[in-house]
Amino acid sequence: MVLAELGSRITQAIQQMNNVTIIDEKALNDCLNEITRALLQSDVSFPLVKEMQTNIKKIVNLRDLAAGHNKRRIIEQAIFNELCKMLDPGKPAFSPKKAKPGVVMFVGLQGAGKTTTCTKYAYYHQKKGYKPALVCADTFRAGAFDQLKQNATKAKIPFYGSYTESDPVKIAVEGVERFKKEKCDLIIVDTSGRHKQEASLFEEMRQVAEATKPDLVIFVMDSSIGQAAFDQAQAFKQTVAVGAVIITKMDGHAKGGGALSAVAATKSPVIFIGTGEHMDEFEVFDVKPFVSRLLGMGDWSGLVDKIQEVVPKDLQHELVEKVSQGNFTLRTLYEQFQCTLNLPLNQLYSMLPGISAQLMPKGHEEESRAKMKRYMTMMDSMTDKELDSSNPKVFSESRIMRIARGSGRFVREVMEMLEEYKRIAKTMKGIKIPKNGDMSKVIPP
Ligand code: GDP
Repeated sequence: MVLAELGSRITQAIQQMNNVTIIDEKALNDCLNEITRALLQSDVSFPLVKEMQTNIKKIVNLRDLAAGHNKRRIIEQAIFNELCKMLDPGKPAFSPKKAKPGVVMFVGLQGAGKTTTCTKYAYYHQKKGYKPALVCADTFRAGAFDQLKQNATKAKIPFYGSYTESDPVKIAVEGVERFKKEKCDLIIVDTSGRHKQEASLFEEMRQVAEATKPDLVIFVMDSSIGQAAFDQAQAFKQTVAVGAVIITKMDGHAKGGGALSAVAATKSPVIFIGTGEHMDEFEVFDVKPFVSRLLGMGDWSGLVDKIQEVVPKDLQHELVEKVSQGNFTLRTLYEQFQCTLNLPLNQLYSMLPGISAQLMPKGHEEESRAKMKRYMTMMDSMTDKELDSSNPKVFSESRIMRIARGSGRFVREVMEMLEEYKRIAKTMKGIKIPKNGDMSKVIPP
């Protein structure tokens, strides 16, 4: 079961409680059993699922809840919190400091995406003003150095490796020393892929860690690893001090639940997820927005992150300010569509709170794009007064007919677009931006 499917099964299980007149023990059990099944089918390990079920039952004590309490809401909140707890080990990972040398070592199974992820991680930090460098200590796989070299060259990141030296410890130490001298503040060591049954390779990994003394060891895990995730992650943790996890290939059809198990096994947070083969298909991972997105509640902070990347700085503040003042006109929506259309499709999905479910259903991104363009064509036929009004009453029957004629669309399509606008404007009301204009501290509606 892919993650999006897991999310919708959990959401459906919660919504089922809308159909019962009284939320009693049975309704709660039915809901929790359905969630348990969905999680197990997504490869979350059994003890974790069991623990979650027990915790929710402890929190939601139906007998003690007086009439009038919104039980469904309380259950929903408990499920949300428990899912967050599963993904949050409660201690942050080391983050590199600018101008201070930091060594980060990547470990994982072969094919997990380590080499690709090393470059993505370096590239991400380079864009944030760090001075990263890549060291290829993978002497096991033929072609590993070439791959790293190619990626690093493309991203203009300095690299170190050898075609002849077969001792990974020696290469790692040389590389780290060299880049420390060159005042790099983020030295990334890529290592060979290995499996927990390969004792000698595990010993070699321990030696690389001992020799380079990394500030952080990142365990890279393919999201499709399934139920094996827990054992593998634990084996790595027992050999080197894993301090963070990166889950790759979240764009595929993997079950993804193994991510939850890896967090539990390593007691380390997921810090990034890989969402494609390209360098910029890499997202910061935050627990709450992720769970929010999983449950179809939108991911406001992910959207803010993307707005920061694609919208020019001076427009960012203006856009959020307009929104937060309740001044969300059709023109603002038009501008938002323009920005949104610049985002890569797979990153766009479900980031917009309140907008995602209907306007951008997963798997229908192309259609969503077409729909946005269609809406924009209709808006092109509006007058300035119509575009700048936040009062939908301005749209009389004759105006709607004029817009439909002008844009070559049906009247019902114009009405549908206006309905969509009203819904989005309502969701956007209540967004709060801090006085200093820091977009990352925007409080969602
Ligand atoms: P390594 O053996 O762990 O170093 O793995 P590689 O970095 O060589 O990656 C193995 C394959 O997975 C390559 O074809 C990568 O392009 C691909 N890959 C890595 N990360 C992602 C991702 O996030 N999404 C997708 N779709 N492919 C990825």
